[in-house]
Amino acid sequence: MRFIEYGTIKKRAANRFALIYPDVYRAGNSNLGIHYVYNIVNEARDFSIERFFLDFERSIETKDMLKNFKALLFSLNYEYGIINLLKILKNNNIPILREERKDHLVITGGPLNVNPFVLKDVFDIAFVGDAEKSLVEFIEIYTTLDDPKRQIEEFAKIEGIYIPEIHRENKIKRRIEKLTYHPLYEPIQWGDFEESFNKTFLLEVSRGCRSRCEFCLTGNALGPYRERSIEELIHIVKEGQKRTKFEKIALIGSDMPSSIDEIINSIGELGFQISLPSLKLKDINLGTIPFLGQDTITLAPESSESLRYDIGKYYSDEEFFEKINLIKKYSKSVKLYFIFGLPGEEIKDLDEVIEFIKKSRKMIRTKSSFNPFVPKPHTPFEDYIFDFSKLKEKMKYITSNIKDVRIEDLKGAFIQYVISVGGSDVGKFLIEGVENNSNLTYSSFSKAIDGGEITVPSEEKEWKKIEVSI
Ligand code: SF4
Repeated sequence: MRFIEYGTIKKRAANRFALIYPDVYRAGNSNLGIHYVYNIVNEARDFSIERFFLDFERSIETKDMLKNFKALLFSLNYEYGIINLLKILKNNNIPILREERKDHLVITGGPLNVNPFVLKDVFDIAFVGDAEKSLVEFIEIYTTLDDPKRQIEEFAKIEGIYIPEIHRENKIKRRIEKLTYHPLYEPIQWGDFEESFNKTFLLEVSRGCRSRCEFCLTGNALGPYRERSIEELIHIVKEGQKRTKFEKIALIGSDMPSSIDEIINSIGELGFQISLPSLKLKDINLGTIPFLGQDTITLAPESSESLRYDIGKYYSDEEFFEKINLIKKYSKSVKLYFIFGLPGEEIKDLDEVIEFIKKSRKMIRTKSSFNPFVPKPHTPFEDYIFDFSKLKEKMKYITSNIKDVRIEDLKGAFIQYVISVGGSDVGKFLIEGVENNSNLTYSSFSKAIDGGEITVPSEEKEWKKIEVSI
């Protein structure tokens, strides 16, 4: 397989950091957060950063080994990333526990740091919230220190940083920035090495979400909503073009500005194919869909109409079908995402969802996915219990009433739940499992819960120390 990347930065510097996405390249290189950190560190004088993924155990930039870097920056976006982080440290003979680690500074960032406490015995520093400025401040302080690991307290004054050794009981305010910075050197895959967005520049249009769906982390903890102007977006694309080769642009944001059709038009006029990986129902109209050229449009009805309203997503079934009618004129298929097991869900809700899918199938080629509901910290549903046997029954009900739907693995979702709303006891359990090479499976987690070794959701709810804003 040919690996051809444009926008790769190969810089020689005195301070070499490692940027680790604890998943495969395909997933990680499509993550905008990775590109932010990559650009910010490389822009600093005397600093460089090199990328690692699960399928790239040596750095992409110089093929060096992880243990040869002093600071290891992990991007945490999904719960499994936490297990993978521990395995990566172990496989590279880097002590997992902070107190046993002499040389390496382990740093975490990303949305999962709304609950950094699972790994509080592991990392030296956690960036909480937007890191574009706190990372610059971190670098400025780093350059002044002889031994940053032993002088860790020097970083404590940076807003939006959590240092377990220093901030024991302190509240940490999740840092929020205006959208003034954007990465311009995005390493983009042009070979046949699979990536979610081949030949595509990721353009962050907005951050946060104005809706408050009760199950959703973005709407309840990753706010407030911010957006960029069309002029800024065009400027970023033009500057990006000078540094990186791409032919498509993916507009990134959970909630697009009301001027989205103008944005699509203006960027389309620059000669790029545009994709919108996450589209809200309100964004589907004659000003957007005909210009996207996407074969498949993804929609997230989530549940039955009544439960959808209950969880704060105010779209009727009828509105969905109107949009599907429009989509079928310009695209070949729709992908529908549903969540099952939401608080208040009854069998009648599942029946309605099944009817919804059947109706959609009559209109257009339809792929449907069901994900078990995984409670997230800082959301109104954070205390909800993931009832495995009830969910299993519901899963059976769905599969026996409709064929050809994809259901996410329930055992995997259970592990996500344990990590998502877990505390440091879960962290200790994970560390022990990785240290002893034991399989961290559904049954090992449920045995640990039954035996009182771990409590889920965490009784202490340490994540409350993180002050989020919406
Ligand atoms: S609209 Fe989407 S991103 Fe916004 S709160 Fe609801 S689920 Fe989350």
